[in-house]
Amino acid sequence: MKPRIWLSCPHMGGSEIKYIEEAFSQNWIAPLGPNVDNFEKDICKYSGAGHAAALSSGTAALHLALIILGVKQGDEVICSSFTFSASANPIVYQGATPVFVDSERDTWNMSPEYLEVAIKDRIAKGKKPKAIIVVHLYGQPAKLKEILEISEKYQIPVIEDAAESLGSKFEGKMTGTFGVMGVYSFNGNKIITTSGGGSLISDSKENIDKARFLATQARDAAPHYQHSQIGYNYRMSNILAGIGRGQMEVIEARVAKRREIFKFYTKAFSDLKEIDFLPEYKNTFANRWLTCILLDKSSSVNREDIRLALEKENIESRPLWKPMHMQPIFESAPFYGEKISEDLFNRGLCLPSASVMTEEDLNRVSTLIIDLFKKK
Ligand SMILES: *Cc1c(COP(=O)(O)O)cnc(C)c1O
Repeated sequence: MKPRIWLSCPHMGGSEIKYIEEAFSQNWIAPLGPNVDNFEKDICKYSGAGHAAALSSGTAALHLALIILGVKQGDEVICSSFTFSASANPIVYQGATPVFVDSERDTWNMSPEYLEVAIKDRIAKGKKPKAIIVVHLYGQPAKLKEILEISEKYQIPVIEDAAESLGSKFEGKMTGTFGVMGVYSFNGNKIITTSGGGSLISDSKENIDKARFLATQARDAAPHYQHSQIGYNYRMSNILAGIGRGQMEVIEARVAKRREIFKFYTKAFSDLKEIDFLPEYKNTFANRWLTCILLDKSSSVNREDIRLALEKENIESRPLWKPMHMQPIFESAPFYGEKISEDLFNRGLCLPSASVMTEEDLNRVSTLIIDLFKKK
C-alpha cells in the first residue's frame, strides 16, 4: 500500500522544538509563560488585531466570545448553517438557541440577504438575536461588507469564526479583525497547528482581559481563591504556545503552499467540465485551507465515487461540511434560506490539501480522479 495522503495534516517548520526546549529549560510547564505571551504577540502582529488571548481551542474562544457579549439562557444567536458543529455548539453551552442562515453561491458563506430576513423575523417574533457568528469556510472570506452593514443597522455584534481562514483577507485586511471579536483555531488539521489550541482576538483590550480572566477560572484579586463568577480552564499551555511560535514563523509559506495546491488542481482538472471550484470572490484573498470541488448535477461521477476511489488508494478526502440545519441535534433550530448549503453538501468534496504534499502526491490524487472520469 502506498503511504497515506491526508486531507490536512500538521506541518512543522523546524523551530517549534527550540521554543519547547526553552520552556523545559526554564520550567515554564504551565498555562502561562513567555511562549504564551510571545505567541499572542505574534498573532497580533500577523493579523493586525489589537489584542489576542491564546486558548485551549477555537471552540473555547467562541464560547468566551459569547459569554463576553452576554449571551444567556433563552437568547438567540445567528450562525452560518454551512460550517463545522464547533461554530454552533458554544451557543448551546450558554443555553441559547442557534438560528441558522443559509449560504449564498459566491462565497458559500452566510447569505446577507437571508441574514436580514432572519433578523427581521426573529425581531417580529419578539426576540432580537444577541450576536451573529459568521464563518469564513475553507478560508474563503464571507461577504463581510454586506454582513457588517446589517450588523450596524440592527446593532447586533458580529463574531468572526476565522478558524479556517488564518491568513485570508477581505479588502486587504485579515479575516478575524472585522467583528467585535474573532476566533482562530490551531487544531491539528488547520493551516498551522499547536496540536490543539485556539485564540480570541479583538481590538478591545477589555474583551481580551475578560477572556483571560474567564479562561483561568475567573479568580478575583485576593490572596485566597475568591470567585464571583463561573470560570473556565481554557488557557493554552506554554509548551503548546512554543509550537505556535514556531508555526507563526512559517505561516506565509503555508498559505502560499495551500494556494499552489489549489492552482495545481484547477490546472489538472481544467478539461473536466463536470468539476467546479469554490471561487475566490472579488476583493478577497483566500488561504485555500482546503481545495473544494463541486461536481456538476449531470456529472457521471459523483462525489462518493471519487471519495471511495481515493480511499481505496489510501487517500483521504471528505464531503463538504454537512449544514447544521440538517443535523439531527439541531433539527428544531430555526433556519432561514433555501437549499444552497444542502446542494453544496450533496455535490462537494474536499481534496487533500496538506502543505506537506509533494508534486508526486498531487499527481497521485489528480490522475486517479481524471481516470475515474475517463472510465465512465
Ligand atoms: C476547527 C473549527 C472550529 C473549532 O476549532 P477547535 O480549535 O477545533 O476547537 C470552529 N469553527 C470552524 C469553522 C472550524 O473549522
